[in-house]
Amino acid sequence: MTDAQTQTNGAQPQTSGETRRAANAEQPGAKKNVKWAESPTLGLMETLYLPAIASGIGTTIRRMFVRNETRQYPEVEPIMPANYRGVHRLNRDSQGRVKCVACFLCQTACPANCISIEAAAAPKDDPAWQDRDKFPEKFEIDELRCIYCGMCEQACPVDAIELTSIYDLTGATREEMMFDKEKLLEVFDITSTTGKDPVRTTSGKLGPASEFVEPQATQLRS
Ligand code: SF4
Ligand code: SF4
Repeated sequence: MTDAQTQTNGAQPQTSGETRRAANAEQPGAKKNVKWAESPTLGLMETLYLPAIASGIGTTIRRMFVRNETRQYPEVEPIMPANYRGVHRLNRDSQGRVKCVACFLCQTACPANCISIEAAAAPKDDPAWQDRDKFPEKFEIDELRCIYCGMCEQACPVDAIELTSIYDLTGATREEMMFDKEKLLEVFDITSTTGKDPVRTTSGKLGPASEFVEPQATQLRS
C-alpha cells in the first residue's frame, strides 16, 4: 500500500519510512529482536544549519591554537595500529610449497569479488606432492578492488592466505596491482622474517590483531 492510499483510507498520514517500518515490524520476531531508530526532528536552527556552522567555526578556532605536527614520511615510517590489515601474502608450507589447497573458500567469502583461483590436480607422480590432491595453478588478487576486510583469511581452513602489515602499496598501472601467485609468495618470503606478520595468527596462535580487538568486543557486549 502506498502512502497516498494510506491517507485516503482514513488512517493517519505516514511517511514512507514509517510505512516500511510498520511493514517490517509485522515480520516474525521483529518486535523482540529489532530496535528501530527514529529520525531526529529538525527545528528551525537545524534546518538553517546554524549549530553545524557554529561547530565548524569552533573547530577552526580550536585548531588555530594547536601546534601543527609535520610527519617526515617516508623518511620516518608511521606506527601502524596492531590490527592494521595490509597487502596479502600466500604462505608456504614446511616444504616450501604453496600452502593453499585450492578449496575456493576465500574466493567465495570475498565480498569484493577480487580473488580469482584456478585449481589443478597435484602431480601424483611427484613424491613431494603425494599428500595433496589440489593446488592453485593460478591465484590472483586485485589489490585495487580489495577492501582489506580480512574475510579471506578468516575463511581459509589452512591459514594459507593472510594479510600483512605492509601499507605502502603503490603501482603505476592496474596490472601492477594484480598480485599473482608468485608475487603473493614473494610477499610471504619478505614478511616471514620481519616478526610483525602475520597480523592475525601464526599456526593457531592468536596474533596482536586479535589481542587488540578482544577488549573492544567485550566493551560492546557490556
Ligand atoms: S581482504 Fe576482503 S576484500 Fe580483500 S581479498 Fe580478502 S576477502 Fe576479498
Ligand atoms: S587460500 Fe585458503 S581458502 Fe583460499 S583457496 Fe587456498 S586454501 Fe582455500
